[in-house]
Amino acid sequence: LCRLKPGSHGSRSARGSSHPAFPEPSMDELTQALVLGQFEPFFQPKACLTNGTIHSAEALARWRHPQRGLVPPDSFIPLLEQHGLIDQLTEQIVQKTARAWQSWSAQGKQFEVSINLSLSSLSNPGYAARLIAILDHSGIAPRFIVFEVTESAAMSDVPHSLENLARLRMKGYGLSIDDYGTGYSSMQQLIRIPFSELKMDRSFVTAACKDNAQVLVLASSLALAKELRLDSVAEGIESASDWRLLRRLECRYAQGYLIGKPVPQAEFLDSVAGWSEA
Ligand code: C2E
Ligand code: CA
Ligand code: CA
Ligand code: CA
Repeated sequence: LCRLKPGSHGSRSARGSSHPAFPEPSMDELTQALVLGQFEPFFQPKACLTNGTIHSAEALARWRHPQRGLVPPDSFIPLLEQHGLIDQLTEQIVQKTARAWQSWSAQGKQFEVSINLSLSSLSNPGYAARLIAILDHSGIAPRFIVFEVTESAAMSDVPHSLENLARLRMKGYGLSIDDYGTGYSSMQQLIRIPFSELKMDRSFVTAACKDNAQVLVLASSLALAKELRLDSVAEGIESASDWRLLRRLECRYAQGYLIGKPVPQAEFLDSVAGWSEA
């Protein structure tokens, strides 16, 4: 929620270090990893709740570290943000995601792909133009790309952030509110920013799947999405009963371990082969 507040960075990255055997990576180490291209997107499928087809994939960053193995994003995203290196990561993820899309497309599969943007990037004027340039160069139609942004009260430079988001949307990319339902009430953001999708946070979904009283909360957010003509995605779908509940609540898409875990690009098509044709 408060990713942009300088004071919160330390605690967040300390929590995120899930490799106690290794010290927190230094700025030099992170810079070198960027130069060497050690970051890559894994892809996690999303399925359509009405017909069970695979509709899209989310690109989730991984660090292929020569000693540590695969490092999860919570261990390096906050540090990259803190050191002003996050834009370089995003560019590499966008580039590699574009290549993945082209490879699937060559095999006859055109999925929508979503890419996570860091809020701290959005205050740079001209940021949207840079992303647009990379994607234009790769020749992917904008309707196949969705940018996910975490809802937050801590949008540091509101005018520039809004301008960047509006530019991306005007170009035809989708814009998703990530982690919807985590604390901060985002009616304000919904009205100000031309979002196209609402993504229900896993904690929100899990609560509803475990506790009947929480179902109403999720149901009212889904009703809001419908009212605003936004697509809806539920994260953290882990069981058949989660699937049935979200389907009953008329959520459109589901993401979670039931459908598939994040996998490298080369394994993605095989990983969703059991699902019906899109
Ligand atoms: P997120 O965008 O909310 O992504 C969803 C996270 O939930 C992913 O963790 C995913 O692996 C995990 N997940 C998906 N389905 C399930 C499920 O059914 N059960 C459980 N328990 N977990 C599930 P991951 O890959 O570790 O990513 C963590 C966070 O790191 C992401 O949360 C996102 O905020 C951030 N992140 C990842 N890649 C990027 C990136 O390229 N750029 C930026 N700025 N942030 C990124
Ligand atoms: Ca996301
Ligand atoms: Ca999310
Ligand atoms: Ca989440």
